[in-house]
Amino acid sequence: MERLARDVRELPKAHLHLHFTGSMRPTTLLELADKYGVRLPDALTGAEPPKLRATDERGWFRFQRLYDAARSCLREPDDIRRLVREAAEEDLADGSGWLEIQVDPTSYAPRLGGLIPALEIILDAVETASRDTGLGMRVLVAANRMKHPLDARTLARLAVRYADRGIVGFGLSNDERRGMARDFDRAFHIAREGGLLSAPHGGELTGPSSVRDCLDDLDAHRIGHGVRAAEDPRLLKRLADRQVTCEVCPASNVALGVYEKPEDVPLRPLFEAGVPMALGADDPLLFGSRLAAQYEIARRHHAFTDAELAELARQSIRGSAAPEDVRQRLLSGVDTWLTS
Ligand SMILES: [Zn+2]
Repeated sequence: MERLARDVRELPKAHLHLHFTGSMRPTTLLELADKYGVRLPDALTGAEPPKLRATDERGWFRFQRLYDAARSCLREPDDIRRLVREAAEEDLADGSGWLEIQVDPTSYAPRLGGLIPALEIILDAVETASRDTGLGMRVLVAANRMKHPLDARTLARLAVRYADRGIVGFGLSNDERRGMARDFDRAFHIAREGGLLSAPHGGELTGPSSVRDCLDDLDAHRIGHGVRAAEDPRLLKRLADRQVTCEVCPASNVALGVYEKPEDVPLRPLFEAGVPMALGADDPLLFGSRLAAQYEIARRHHAFTDAELAELARQSIRGSAAPEDVRQRLLSGVDTWLTS
């Protein structure tokens, strides 16, 4: 069949939802654990990705514990540089032409000499990897909703201060069931005033109301996940009218039990409603699949045609913070892919 001949890895796209530690190659994690004598939980050393179910708090806690164990293997600037370079290489192999990687520098601060040194090491690593690999890369600084809103404000000010060093957005991650989005409105106000995109997580573990909160209280330009908006047609229309891009991560949703099967992820309802999407891998280290695999899910489980996959790629590019010349180059690459 001609339709299946096109390789989604060759479709130019932007990757807007990838967490820092979660981007690590499993083999790199094993090497770093060995280097530092860290005994990893069995779930991180097997050939298969761990079995997770984060729809209850215990499951989410287990997911966070695995994430923390992996992060504890990143101790030196060299480890950070390696992680970022490999994330760029993996993205390029999957057809990414633009990567926005998400990080809470607070979690790396204790091992890297404090918050500001940690952020500078990360930004330097991103700049170097981008230059060496040719992949356009930027950073989203994400606050942790399990921490105090004042910490988020500090982080927002820092992100704004380093905006010219490659930070393009401000996020909010961790358990949506904890804390209200509006507790973080001041932090997001600081970020937006400073010219950063507002890109909080919402509509993953909790329903449409958490997406509405991101729009109403955090004036979100983009939503991390947002898939649960599919449960509310009026909200879908609002996202479509405002052209708020949802960073949809199908493999992550299934791995964490948000949906039972790949075909249950509401890609069709969002697409048909005109909600722009940017497919993302979230945490490939824990979920076992990277960027191109998300487009494969759309093709295989949701019967997206090549023209529709090309449109998804365009939506990811338009939703990105990439400069105009990069966008035009990637968009014309999408057209070339489709006519090839
Ligand atoms: Zn995420």
